[in-house]
Amino acid sequence: MKAGPPQYRASPDAFEAAPRRHKMAGENALTRQELATELDTGYEGQGQDWERRSHSLISPADVGQANRGRILQALFDLGPTSRAELARNAGVNRATITGIVQPLIEEGVLVEGEPLPAGGLGGKPARPLEFSPHAPRVVGVKLMPGAVRSALVSWTGEVVAKHRRHFSPDLRIAAPAFDAIEACISRTLAAATQPPLGIGVAVGGMVDTDRGSIVAVNLAPILSGLPLGPMLEDRFGLPVCLDHHPRAMLLGDRWFGVGRGVKSFAAIFTGEVLGGALLLDGHLYRGPHGAGGELGHTFVQIDGDVCRCGRRGCWETIATLGWLRREARTARLPDPDTIDSGRLVALVEQGVAGAARVFDRYARNLATGIANLQQTVAPNLYVVHGDVVVGGEPMRSAIERHVRDLVPAHPGGQPQIVLGDPEDHATLRGAAGLVLSQQLQFLL
Ligand SMILES: [Zn+2]
Repeated sequence: MKAGPPQYRASPDAFEAAPRRHKMAGENALTRQELATELDTGYEGQGQDWERRSHSLISPADVGQANRGRILQALFDLGPTSRAELARNAGVNRATITGIVQPLIEEGVLVEGEPLPAGGLGGKPARPLEFSPHAPRVVGVKLMPGAVRSALVSWTGEVVAKHRRHFSPDLRIAAPAFDAIEACISRTLAAATQPPLGIGVAVGGMVDTDRGSIVAVNLAPILSGLPLGPMLEDRFGLPVCLDHHPRAMLLGDRWFGVGRGVKSFAAIFTGEVLGGALLLDGHLYRGPHGAGGELGHTFVQIDGDVCRCGRRGCWETIATLGWLRREARTARLPDPDTIDSGRLVALVEQGVAGAARVFDRYARNLATGIANLQQTVAPNLYVVHGDVVVGGEPMRSAIERHVRDLVPAHPGGQPQIVLGDPEDHATLRGAAGLVLSQQLQFLL
C-alpha cells in the first residue's frame, strides 16, 4: 500500500527523502516471482486505496500543504501572476494568498518579478510572482532500450546538466544496465547546488506505477521486471516517481509546454516505437497500476503484420520508422535504411518518384490511431513528438488533414495537431513533472 502524500518543505534541511512509496532493494527486494505475484493481486488493493482517497477529507494539518500546492499549480498554469489575480482565481482574499506565498518567497521557491504597470485606479504597481531560478531542481531521467539520459530541470523548464549513457539492450543480466543508469544520474546530481526535490523516471516500456517497477520492455527484455524505483530510492535517498514514457512526455507539455492550462489533450510519440497518453478534464488517466496508455498496441488492422509485442495489426506496425524504412525500400527511395520524416519530406520537395505516396500513407497511418482516439474521447488537441517533429509543418498539416478526413465534423471542435519541442526536452521535463505533481500534491 502506498504511503500518504509526501510532505514538501523547502527549508534547507527539509530535503530528507519523503516517505518512500516502494519496497527497498537489497535484502527486502522483491524477486521477480514475488513481483509477479503482487501484480496479480494488486488491483484489489488499489481499489481500496481509491475508495479511501476519494472518500477522505483533508485533515486540518494537511490543508496548508494542499493550498500551497494549488497556488503553485496556478502559477504553472497562468505563468507569472500577481497576488491579487491569484486571489481572484482562488476565490479568497489577498491576505490568504499572502499567507501562503510569503513563506515560499522566504524559502527561495518564488520571487517577485518586475512591477506591472499600475491599473487605471492608480495605487502601487503589482509585482507578479514567479518561480525562482534557484528553487531546488528535479532530476529527470529518460530510460529507453539501450540508453539512459538524465538532466536537472528547473521549475521554469530549463534543462541543464544533461548526461547520457549507453548499455547493451541484449544484456543477459540487469546489473550493467542499472550501473549505467546509476552512473548517468550520479553525474547529473554532481551538478546540483542543492538537494533536488526528487528523481522522475520516464520508461520506454510497460510499467507498474504503483510499485515503481518496469513490467516489460520489448526492445530490452533485461529491464523487464526490474524494481527500478525502489532501487534508485535506496541508492540516492531521494523520492523517485516512475512512469510510462508517453505519460511523462504529456506532463512535460502539461507543466512546461503547449499543454499549460489546457484541460484535455493527448501526447503521441512516434519513432522506433509508438506510444501515447491522455489528459482528460485535467486528469492524467493511468489505469490500474499504470496499465493504460499502450496506444502503440491498440489494433488498427485485423490480421495485420506481426508486432514486436507478438500480436498482429498494432498501430505501431504501420506508423513507426520500421514501417517507413520497409516502404521506402519497396518504393526504391534513396538510403531507405536511414530514412526519417525529415528526409522523407525533403525527398517529396525534390520531387523524387514515389516519395509523395509513401509520405501520404505514413501521415494517414499516423492519423488513423489519432482518429480512433478522437472518436473515443475527443481531446481535440494532439501534441506529437519524436520522428514526426523533424518532418515539420508538411508532416503536421498532412496528419491533421487526414485526421479531419477520418472523423465526422462535430460542434465539440476540430482535432488539432501541434508539434512537440524540436530538442525533445518534453520527456526530461515531464519526468521532473512527475515529481513536482506528486511532491506538491497537484490535482492531476
Ligand atoms: Zn503490438
